[in-house]
Amino acid sequence: MDPRTYSPPADLLRDRIVLITGASDGIGKAVALAAAAHGATVILHGRNVRRLEAVYDSIVGAGQPRPSILPLDFERAGPSEYDQLATAIDKEFGQLDVLLHNAGMLGERAPIEHYDVAKWMRTMHVNVNAPFILTRTCLPLLKRSADASIVFTSSGVVPRPRAFWGAYLVSKWASDGLMHLLADELEGATAIRVNSINPGKVRTNMRLQAYPAEDRSTLPPPEAIVKPYLYLFGPDSRGVNGATVECQ
Ligand code: NAP
Repeated sequence: MDPRTYSPPADLLRDRIVLITGASDGIGKAVALAAAAHGATVILHGRNVRRLEAVYDSIVGAGQPRPSILPLDFERAGPSEYDQLATAIDKEFGQLDVLLHNAGMLGERAPIEHYDVAKWMRTMHVNVNAPFILTRTCLPLLKRSADASIVFTSSGVVPRPRAFWGAYLVSKWASDGLMHLLADELEGATAIRVNSINPGKVRTNMRLQAYPAEDRSTLPPPEAIVKPYLYLFGPDSRGVNGATVECQ
């Protein structure tokens, strides 16, 4: 089965609780809308509350399951704020079926010799430490699901490392390392599968920041690459563990 040509049934994610980080914009927003359209109750995480509310309104306006909004700035949040987030999910839903680590930042593109140390730390923190802490905090909720899925977000810089991509490149290698580690730890012991997804080149603000001179009309919009996400969220990907799924 090729996840890129997957045909999800309309009720694929009915009764599933799906937490998407970075759901306010870009790929996360498109995946949140697609998951809700396939029956999921989506927990929308991000920083920008106004944008999160716009996603919430689209979902409610379409008559889909009422989502939740959980704002948290990964740059600033401490362990107690992650605990509060998990407590809020526990109180409202009692379990979690899907955790998509999608939020990310590009950092700067510069040679290592001149890379700004504070920007390096921030990028590693948002792209690697935050998914680690969030996973650790949400594992008890995911263990209550009969069919849980954790998805990390990879990038083309993992198979094709290249100069000047700094902390972003290293963070994506670390994120994939965490995915493999967790997939091995949980295999057999839980009903949780752990995989990565590589969106490919997508027309978002992050892509614009990385390639400001690029002709954006050549890039697919985020809505065009959501099928592999739905595949990993739903029961058809049962048994897939420790894999990287390509969207393009
Ligand atoms: P995007 O449009 O810039 O969206 C990034 C999302 O991450 C936003 O929802 C943003 O929230 C959230 N975020 C950023 N910093 C955050 C922080 N400190 N705390 C909490 N949330 C934060 O980016 P995108 O292109 O959709 O990227 C999504 C994922 O795909 C990233 O992991 C990226 O590395 C990966 N990716 C993208 C491409 C591509 O071509 N676009 C290619 C390969 C991989 P706010 O808006 O609320 O700040």
